[in-house]
Amino acid sequence: FKEVRLILGDQLNPKHSWFKQNDAVLYVMFEMQQETNYVRHHQQKVLAFFATMREFANALASLADVLYLQLGCADNKHSLTENLNSVLQLTQPQKFSYQEPDEYRLVKQLEEFEVSENTAIECCSTEHFLISLQHLDSYLPANKAPLMETFYRRVRKETGYLMADEKPIGGKWNYDHDNRNKLPDKVSVPAPLAFENDASSIADMLAKADIKMIGTATADKLDWPITREQSLKLLRNFMQERLPLFGQYQDAMSKRCYLLFHSRLSFSLNTKMLNPREVVEAAIEAYERDPDNITLAQVEGFIRQIIGWREFVRLIYWREMPSYKEKNFFAHKNPLPKFYWNADTKMNCVQHAVSQSLETAYAHHIQRLMITGNFGLLAGVHPDEMDAWYLGIYIDAIEWVELPNTRGMSQFADGGLLATKPYISSGNYINKMSTYCKDCYYKVSAKTGARSCPFNSLYWHFLHTHRGKLANNPRMGMMYRQWDKQDTEAQEAILSQAQHYLADIDSL
Ligand code: FAD
Ligand code: SF4
Repeated sequence: FKEVRLILGDQLNPKHSWFKQNDAVLYVMFEMQQETNYVRHHQQKVLAFFATMREFANALASLADVLYLQLGCADNKHSLTENLNSVLQLTQPQKFSYQEPDEYRLVKQLEEFEVSENTAIECCSTEHFLISLQHLDSYLPANKAPLMETFYRRVRKETGYLMADEKPIGGKWNYDHDNRNKLPDKVSVPAPLAFENDASSIADMLAKADIKMIGTATADKLDWPITREQSLKLLRNFMQERLPLFGQYQDAMSKRCYLLFHSRLSFSLNTKMLNPREVVEAAIEAYERDPDNITLAQVEGFIRQIIGWREFVRLIYWREMPSYKEKNFFAHKNPLPKFYWNADTKMNCVQHAVSQSLETAYAHHIQRLMITGNFGLLAGVHPDEMDAWYLGIYIDAIEWVELPNTRGMSQFADGGLLATKPYISSGNYINKMSTYCKDCYYKVSAKTGARSCPFNSLYWHFLHTHRGKLANNPRMGMMYRQWDKQDTEAQEAILSQAQHYLADIDSL
């Protein structure tokens, strides 16, 4: 072989220009304990990654030579660089190529990897993201506070998505305000598209290797898309059944359906089976075909997540790593409550978000941000523990996107680089956006007392504790004015209720 090309588990882009020329090329792919064990992953996540990698390798094998090391293979060294060393020693290629990894730890591993002097190394783009990292400085200059809205508008202008004559179609850039509704009983939610992929042989292999995982899985009916065809089917299904109400109920939470009107496309996107451009273009096409059914607010809300937030957090990650991983603005140090691992809590909202995550490896954005994230922040949990939980439990969790969302957006551990204020709320917001409170053990209207909603007292306790760090934030002024309006006795009762809850958080 003249060239060995490495394909990582989240680089499953069948449209990559690499595959136009495969003569004298050997593709290598590895299932490794380095990847299964760096954090405790959800079972469905490991099954889905390996199943998807195997499908990809099988399809590629009809075009090119592929060396695929399964986890159980005797030759597998379970370390990326050791596996590569073995392959390169055996094949002595003129060139070793890899695509830019999306994770810092893998970039470092490959940058430090040494090959023989007869082999050249080449790193190329994954051809996935809209913004190349070479232009990072131009989009997020080091000396300027990054603002997602400014970034998003620039990307809209550059791509021309939902633009006419250099102006946003409809005259507005952002329809967030139209998009914050609770789900009414009369709105029916379509059943999610089901996949029944058989990953039982992978499950057996993981059990044999004694890989420690979390959550549950039905391995012979794995409900995630594992090929590009399945991902395209999911994309089409989303356009027909969910996009029409996506934006409107984007922030709603309900026990009626774990997915509501979300797309569940993050796994297909993050493994690169789907390209963000094709997803966005499919949404715009669906809107243009049927603007009465899919309004501008829905489609704008959706594309903002992909060309806005997804690209933005990636640039934040690369601008701020490796120090971002150490940020802990509030110096929080509490352990993660035990109920994050078993959903054993009387708080109905947390119980539902966690049990659903353990069962499906999925929670939508507001469940992640305003239930589990919000609670962790109010409870003063160390951001390392929050990160490890989010990085393990979700099907789409890869550090480049998990870390800025968790540490930055949800835990404000970066002191406000990504979010302009902490995403915290009392029970009131949760009650407004969900149906959780009406059958909860706790009373959402109560701030103190045995059954008072823990989010209420913890919310005020958090604001009180971090006054020195937050009071000058212009977006927090109203909250502090509300707190200051309460008399000292009421304040003391709330703080002591919070302390009581914090003292035995696992029993909530
Ligand atoms: P939809 O609601 O249908 O949105 C469409 C797409 O937009 C998603 O598939 C995703 O690609 C993109 N998107 C939406 N919001 C974001 C965002 N904030 N950042 C980046 N992309 C976004 N997303 C991940 O992909 N991996 C993670 O590990 C991850 N961890 C998160 C941790 C926390 C604490 C929070 C608050 C959010 C996290 N997110 C993460 C972002 C978001 O919650 C998920 O992308 C989304 O829930 C995936 O479900 P979906 O495909 O149905 O999304
Ligand atoms: Fe959650 Fe409080 Fe509502 Fe219970 S009352 S569901 S704990 S917000």
